[in-house]
Amino acid sequence: MPSDTYRHKGMRKRLVDGIAKKGIKDKAVLEAIMRVPRHFFMELAFQDWAYVDKPFPIGEEQTISQPFTVAYQSAALEIKPREHVLEIGTGSGYQAAILAEMGARVFTVERQEALYLKASKLLEEMGYTNIRTFWRDGWKGLPEYAPFDKIIVTAGAAELPKQLLEQLKVGGIMIIPIGIENQKMHRILKVSESKYKDELLDDFRFVPMLKGRNPKS
Ligand code: SAH
Repeated sequence: MPSDTYRHKGMRKRLVDGIAKKGIKDKAVLEAIMRVPRHFFMELAFQDWAYVDKPFPIGEEQTISQPFTVAYQSAALEIKPREHVLEIGTGSGYQAAILAEMGARVFTVERQEALYLKASKLLEEMGYTNIRTFWRDGWKGLPEYAPFDKIIVTAGAAELPKQLLEQLKVGGIMIIPIGIENQKMHRILKVSESKYKDELLDDFRFVPMLKGRNPKS
């Protein structure tokens, strides 16, 4: 693991201030971003840019989300300590670490085996005992651990994944970007076993949510 220096902490403080200026006021979210060294989750070549508010490549044609987007989705979930949160799209593991810092029990699913292995190793080394990682197809969720208090999808979904809705608790919240090229963020409240309230939020750009695992097995 790289080291987390005062220089990194200083840059992180400026990043957090910038995110707060862009409209994220949730203290628990801002404190979590302040605590997690984002440069641990990035390739050596990009580590100098870890505290710039932008997405960066993490291999396998995927990206670590922009910190503002991570903050936006985390705030929308209204996480309470010990809630069970399902994340689709582990990627680097950064978003999972933010949710864990907010007190959630995180179940995170990744379809790319190489990313799953890398993120699992890093999160374990960092001591996150409240994060469990899975190499699966996120369209199917994790039925054996359902229902979840909250669900977060960090890849652009062409449509609303029905199986994920079924794995959400009544009273739970799902935050998901839906669309092909660009995505509209949807915040879905499960009102009863059969009723949902779908709130449309801002526009974002995510890598696509694909079907099946890679490599196939
Ligand atoms: N949350 C990540 C960013 C993820 S980028 C982070 O903090 O770094 C989106 C990720 O979703 C990619 O790693 C991609 O491989 C993964 N993904 C895409 N479709 C998926 C699916 N059906 N199931 C699980 N993961 C998926």
